[in-house]
Amino acid sequence: MTVELGKISTRSERGRRNAAVKELRDVGATPDEISARVREYRKRWPHLTLTETALVKHWSALANPDDERRVVMCPECGLGFQSERRVGEHMANVHGVYA
Ligand SMILES: [Zn+2]
Repeated sequence: MTVELGKISTRSERGRRNAAVKELRDVGATPDEISARVREYRKRWPHLTLTETALVKHWSALANPDDERRVVMCPECGLGFQSERRVGEHMANVHGVYA
């Protein structure tokens, strides 16, 4: 996790990291699986910062790299959209996040 997500220093960073590590341990995630899903996350949302929270939130969805189906998921709320542009508009309007 440290390799994939970078070092942490503050207490709240450590809290999030530990919570994510625990969730991944609970589902029996292996280091290989984590690397693969981190890669998949970066492929799907190249403009977003990968956080441990995002990784566990989308853990199952990230298991299906071939499952593209031309639906782009909002990484914030998980809604599906038909294009990157649509999800970008949605994120700006609904979440105030600008890519
Ligand atoms: Zn959303």
